[in-house]
Amino acid sequence: MTHTIPHPRHAPVAAPTAGQPYEYHRRPLVEPDWTRFPGWRHVTRDQWESAQWQRVNCVKNIKQLRTVLGDLIDDSFYTDLEADQKALATMSMLVPPQMINTMVPFAPLTTEALLADPIRRYMIPVASDRRTDWPSHPYASRDSLHEHDMWVAEGLTHRYPTKVLAELLSTCPQYCGHCTRMDLVGNSTPAVDKLKLTLKPVERYDAHIAYLKAHPGVRDVVVSGGDVANVPWRNLESYLMRLLELETVRDIRLATKALMGLPQHWLQPDVVEGLERVARTAARRGVNLAIHTHVNHAQSLTPLVAKAAQTALDVGVRDVRNQGVLMRGVNAATPELLDLCFALQGEAGILPYYFYMCDMIPNAEHWRVPVWHAQQLQHDIMGYLPGYATPRIVCDVPFVGKRWVHMLTDYDRERGISYWTKNYRTSIESADLEALNKRYAYYDPIDTLPDGGQQWWTDHRDD
Ligand code: SF4
Repeated sequence: MTHTIPHPRHAPVAAPTAGQPYEYHRRPLVEPDWTRFPGWRHVTRDQWESAQWQRVNCVKNIKQLRTVLGDLIDDSFYTDLEADQKALATMSMLVPPQMINTMVPFAPLTTEALLADPIRRYMIPVASDRRTDWPSHPYASRDSLHEHDMWVAEGLTHRYPTKVLAELLSTCPQYCGHCTRMDLVGNSTPAVDKLKLTLKPVERYDAHIAYLKAHPGVRDVVVSGGDVANVPWRNLESYLMRLLELETVRDIRLATKALMGLPQHWLQPDVVEGLERVARTAARRGVNLAIHTHVNHAQSLTPLVAKAAQTALDVGVRDVRNQGVLMRGVNAATPELLDLCFALQGEAGILPYYFYMCDMIPNAEHWRVPVWHAQQLQHDIMGYLPGYATPRIVCDVPFVGKRWVHMLTDYDRERGISYWTKNYRTSIESADLEALNKRYAYYDPIDTLPDGGQQWWTDHRDD
């Protein structure tokens, strides 16, 4: 007697998204109503869509935040915020109205809701967010990626063989609590005295161009800061056109979180016209010009952000890509990551490209996730998005660079130490014959370790 095994194609078919670990639902973008904030009750659409109004009305201190939020939020919140700013914050406060408007966007604004909000958790950190047992990892440091150590000219980091990072300035239209360049970017805080750029901008730009001319092996320039949205457009255009005169430069990426945090900037007619001139020149010379932005949560995506991204594409920018940062309390869960990726890809015209693990800067342990968690997230987001739009989760390993989170060579889960290798020398290792044979360590947050591992770090706290 023979048995017939039913072919899967003949099995009853369920709706493909039903019963899956993640269920996709298309959600069109919505601009939250800013007039729900007492301080912006009378702000008109014209004001809201003006880059100048947004910049003038950025929230820079607690007094201004109180004016915006009125009496909706308890005093305890401001006390908590003040405690953070006085002793723990590595970034000063600067939040455009556009970003505040994406906090608690569609529910009553209460103290509890604000405390739990993912955008608030990284843009307006409060002392009670941070860990008290291990606020910083013992190996955390300012300039944890050693970008400053690898400067070959002021603001020009040469870390990878064919790529450089050009920091044109040290300010942004918004300051993120977890900024990896906390060493340089923004105003000094009680906890961090910032490094200062010393050259005049024109001298800095000349030094970058001179280095690139002298190093034809560098083909890819990430033009960053800070945020290029704070470079006066005329200066930025001149810098980009000078890059485009170098036949050796084949990729240019503009780093701007403001595409999301202050989309009004990228919609100003003079900026759009200038971007079109640069994009045309790039296309004529066969250079890939892209914008890289930094969105960490689907809440941040609104119709204005989508319009700014689409406008850049319309004027000839080849691609707009997202590099988010993975953070506990913000997005370190599969539904949050997939919701964000689908909103980026399907609604905003922005390619989900990378999620970086939060770097080992001081006072960031409450945000950081362990490598095993990042690996699990990478596993869990596979297969839902188009392959080309499935972001890679990467660990930026000090002295190594970006590595996909599954590329580690060894992993001590008890003590939370992963080991990584590399296949190129950074600019400070040209004479180090052993650089490619070494293993480089990255450290998980101690509170995520098993008891034995936590005890080991406690025993070695003062080593
Ligand atoms: S926009 Fe980028 S550089 Fe500026 S504060 Fe945020 S993370 Fe740092």
